[in-house]
Amino acid sequence: MKVFKFGGASVKDADGMRNVASIIEKYNDGKLLVVVSALGKTTNALEDVVKAYISNNGEAKILIEKIKQSHFDICKDLFEDKNHPVYDQLNNFFVEMEWQIEEERMEEYNYVYDQIVSVGELLSTTVLSHYINEIGIKNTWLDVRDVIKTDDTYREGNVNWLKTTELIQEKVLSILENSIVITQGFLGSTPENCTTTLGREGSDYTAAIFTNILNAENQTIWKDVPGVLSGDPRKFTDAVLLEEISYLEAVEMTFYGASVIHPKTIKPLQNKGIPLLVKSFIHPENKGTIVGTKNSASLPPIRVVKEDQCLLTFHTKNFSFIAEEVISDLLSAFAAANFKMNMMQNGAISFQACVDNIPEKIAKVKKAIEHEFDIDQKENLTLLTIRHYNEEVIASHKMNKKAIIEQKRHTTWQGLLE
Ligand code: ASP
Repeated sequence: MKVFKFGGASVKDADGMRNVASIIEKYNDGKLLVVVSALGKTTNALEDVVKAYISNNGEAKILIEKIKQSHFDICKDLFEDKNHPVYDQLNNFFVEMEWQIEEERMEEYNYVYDQIVSVGELLSTTVLSHYINEIGIKNTWLDVRDVIKTDDTYREGNVNWLKTTELIQEKVLSILENSIVITQGFLGSTPENCTTTLGREGSDYTAAIFTNILNAENQTIWKDVPGVLSGDPRKFTDAVLLEEISYLEAVEMTFYGASVIHPKTIKPLQNKGIPLLVKSFIHPENKGTIVGTKNSASLPPIRVVKEDQCLLTFHTKNFSFIAEEVISDLLSAFAAANFKMNMMQNGAISFQACVDNIPEKIAKVKKAIEHEFDIDQKENLTLLTIRHYNEEVIASHKMNKKAIIEQKRHTTWQGLLE
């Protein structure tokens, strides 16, 4: 049994859908579950709908209409029958979304976000499922919200593994006996059956949840790059393909911000020793990268860049040392805001944390501890991480930029650059 995950870039248009269908046909050699993201940039477009709805600027309906048109255009290209049932099904999702925006505006932004943004994956999987059925590939469309259960942390749902395992074993195993399963990435639902999402780019993680619970042989993430590279090819033209890396290397890279794989993906696979393949959907015949227990003998310097970073400096108001209790207050404030620190360091009476520039989360942290600390904030910074560094590589990447903080460990160098 295998799990495939296709991201938005792979299904951005009718030709993309055809290509995905051909990969499913060619590389399926037994039982297969396929996790799919929303088409192209649909999730961003749906985020704009949410913003328009919340700000009540009258644009939400126009934006929804554009999303509808782009999906219908793809269907016109894929299905000869102008009355194909796919149109009715897509329409139902749009009608539900329109009901949502006609309701009185809700206070809970994150809840509304999930109800609207989740539609992208429901649409894309409906199109793909009908299309591959049309060309003779038997499949079943699964509403992932019936099996992936989360708490009610909207936009960052925490998976209830016990319940999810029970439901996947009960509902999915039997379907896989007779057909391919096509399902949505990124989505889950609360115990009350309200839709949640698992965090942007979360479809890789969805696939890993299925891979773990179904004890799949492997999981393949099909990408528009040849595999995992030694740097983002859009930023580093000399980036090279890493043919084999360990779970540890992958988890470190994604933790520091490598966007090629969602950071939560590795743990469920490592826990069961299941390999992850990262392959190109443009050249599916190429090997790509294997993430598993083995590391390649020697790795080149691997560079990860995180833009739009913010440095928060906390000074104790009463000159207390940054000792255990003070650190505990700081960490509790970050935990309560569900806010990850990308780098931290402390002095005698000050503590510094480098974070993504997310104003709501920064405000939440500040509010919780401003009675105890004076807080400075510095924005527009870049966090550069180099794994397997050498002095030459550090120098060539720092160039003439000033590093406000530099940290060096055995295999990892990090610099917060101005
Ligand atoms: N469609 C969602 C996003 O763009 C989830 C995903 O693609 O993994 O973030």
